[in-house]
Amino acid sequence: MSTSFTYCPKCKSDMAMAPDGYNHCQSDSCSYIQYDNPTPVVAAIVEYGEDQVILAHNAAWPPGWYGLITGFLEKGEHPDECVLREVKEELNLDGELMSMVGMYTFKRMNQLIIAYHIKTKQDPITLDPELDDYKIVPFSKVKYWPAGTGYALRDFLLTRGIEAEMRPFS
Ligand SMILES: [Zn+2]
Repeated sequence: MSTSFTYCPKCKSDMAMAPDGYNHCQSDSCSYIQYDNPTPVVAAIVEYGEDQVILAHNAAWPPGWYGLITGFLEKGEHPDECVLREVKEELNLDGELMSMVGMYTFKRMNQLIIAYHIKTKQDPITLDPELDDYKIVPFSKVKYWPAGTGYALRDFLLTRGIEAEMRPFS
């Protein structure tokens, strides 16, 4: 989640939102502007075996919300490497990068989602402690949700000739 600075990180003066939509330092001798650039996040549509996707539940999410495997880039890391590392860390599965599905904005979190199709064998799954549940859903049955990662899933399914239904946030 993006937060607006109260004080300037350069000179400690007050910050204030300007008509241009950016948070500006109020000191006459400082020109600091908080640009609040989006954070890149990788997301994996994990195809487990054939034509089925793994959706995971984060322990911090409300019950019933399941999503793609996501993660932040490490310093200097390429998204192609990051997405395979995240699949390994979060599910303990060795993935093969099949394609990049696309890039999506996730405005609420000020993130840029870089979505991939990753294929894995149907090996045993071990969840990272930050996840507390998962489900395996056939491509023909999965529903997408109206946010960045959900649109990635919708677009991926269209490449398989499947027009998924939308599941609204409850
Ligand atoms: Zn300043």
